[in-house]
Amino acid sequence: MNIKNPVPTIHILDQATVNQIAAGEVVERPASVVKELVENAIDAGARTIRIDIATSGEGIGSIQVIDDGCGMSPADAQLAFAPHATSKIFRIEDLHQVHTLGFRGEALASIAAVSRVTLTTRLRAPGVIAGTKVVAEGGKILQTCDIGMPEGTNVLVQNLFFNTPARKKFQKSKNTELAHIYSFLEGICLAHPEISFRMITNHVEKLLTDRSIQILDTIARIYGSDIAKELIPVNLMLPFVKVSGYISRPSLTRKDPSRIMVVINQRYVSSTIISGAAKQGYGTLLPKDRFPIAFLSLTIDTELVDVNVHPAKKLVRLSRDKEIASAVAEAVNTALLHHDLIPGVAAPLRSCAPEPGTETKPDSDHGYAFSTPAPSGVSEITHAGTRTTDRQLRQTELATGMEPLETRLPVLEVIGQFGGIYILATTDSGELVVIDQHAVHERILYEQVIARTSGDHCSQELIVPFIVNRPMHEAAVLRDLLPALSQAGFILEEFGKDTFLVRSIPVVLGKLEDMAMIDEMVNDLVSEEPSGAVNNRERISRIIACRGAIKAGTVCTMEQCQRLVQQLRFVKNPFTCPHGRPTIVRFTRSDLDAMFKRI
Ligand code: ADP
Ligand code: MG
Repeated sequence: MNIKNPVPTIHILDQATVNQIAAGEVVERPASVVKELVENAIDAGARTIRIDIATSGEGIGSIQVIDDGCGMSPADAQLAFAPHATSKIFRIEDLHQVHTLGFRGEALASIAAVSRVTLTTRLRAPGVIAGTKVVAEGGKILQTCDIGMPEGTNVLVQNLFFNTPARKKFQKSKNTELAHIYSFLEGICLAHPEISFRMITNHVEKLLTDRSIQILDTIARIYGSDIAKELIPVNLMLPFVKVSGYISRPSLTRKDPSRIMVVINQRYVSSTIISGAAKQGYGTLLPKDRFPIAFLSLTIDTELVDVNVHPAKKLVRLSRDKEIASAVAEAVNTALLHHDLIPGVAAPLRSCAPEPGTETKPDSDHGYAFSTPAPSGVSEITHAGTRTTDRQLRQTELATGMEPLETRLPVLEVIGQFGGIYILATTDSGELVVIDQHAVHERILYEQVIARTSGDHCSQELIVPFIVNRPMHEAAVLRDLLPALSQAGFILEEFGKDTFLVRSIPVVLGKLEDMAMIDEMVNDLVSEEPSGAVNNRERISRIIACRGAIKAGTVCTMEQCQRLVQQLRFVKNPFTCPHGRPTIVRFTRSDLDAMFKRI
């Protein structure tokens, strides 16, 4: 407030200022202009859309979008620049069933408020032989005339933010702005495989998609056929929602959810609910800090989708969002359950390697490496060792049902063991697979643990109870876990100050010869940071599976290796351990040939 004029007086802002303020909501950066223009072209029924960007100095110099859609009449071409001018809705009720991307009638007015726009358009209609050209700048129409041109619309935007220096200052580097434009276009291409998009930057073609009804073709065009090949189709039809698209195998992941692309009713949107549901559909197939790649398209009754939440319409509000999210998770989960998920060594493994700095910390059982063979002393098969392994194997064998599940695993024939860690096998189609023995056994045990619900049958009483004594803070953590532990088959009783008696343990652990295992499990329970995403029951199941499974470094006989591999046939998700790490890796003959440069 100004000191000379301490009492403010109210006045109405002039239209140009109002438009500039409104523009701030719709036109945040160059990518917003591209978005609005391309969405208009789609709404106009275009079959091909061309986007031309030119950079100048450190910024975006011009943006041009050319379509072969329905075009506009001369009168509409001028009216289109007026605020709240739209051909797409008439009244608010129409919003409940809007099928176009635009409906607010703000974009052209907002863009013209902060730039110079040259629009040429020719109506696609019998008898119309010429088009119209309208030039507008800073919210004013400067020129209108007839022009010869093909049917469709061509919008050229220059001098963006010339009259809003503050907004201009907020623009990031040229490449950052281009990256925003490209990432929007990737999404829109996926949402509209039926349209051919061509993107040109400084006269260089950056992207070209063919018209196709198959979204997989578009994915291959944008992300390459290596990735497209690795994807699994998703399809689920419920009365109120249809989910379709493609998701990555668990071996192909990213450190953030930015590659979970969500399209709702052909609108490319950002939805944390849907992308969260997609990740949830993977369950234990992914580590908690990794995200899948997914292209999901949802068709939802328009009445259930509110698109009028934000001027840029990037966000939508869903009624029945919980049911929709669980449909998405179910669709993803079902797709994963019906596919062979063994990663090959070609593209996916390379791209799934964690980005620097995100590598999972190796722990005692998982910090192995190919290059460190087991110390020679360990590799001797001791009698006691074989007995323990036998007992562990028998335990999981007894628990399996009679019939193997309809499995996605190929037929595997064991050919040996390496380093006391990996089982080598061949498949019926002549590939070599390497199996992580601890990880697969952990998976087998894990599924058995979660299949058993609470009750007597999951617990076995110890003849001599085992005593656990813990420091105060650990005892407090443990005390909280007692109900969840007893559900899992661990019955602990408080026995004096910070001491517990372990009376019963889960049946799946079999006849424990080594009580130290209980101590290790308690260690895991009290030391691991509980995270919101994984409940206690789940944590306990994972710990039981990890501690009860055959350890890495255990030398197994051929027969034991075969028994272990056989058990994989009873498992729903044989392809990752409960922490989401792979259990099996496949080398095809051509992978090996390539490694030996035989081709
Ligand atoms: P909205 O898309 O919300 O209706 P816009 O300001 O983006 O608002 O566009 C205003 C109107 O101009 C649209 O409703 C449409 O009738 C017309 N229009 C804009 N772009 C095109 C185009 N590329 N082809 C045909 N008509 C268009
Ligand atoms: Mg629009």
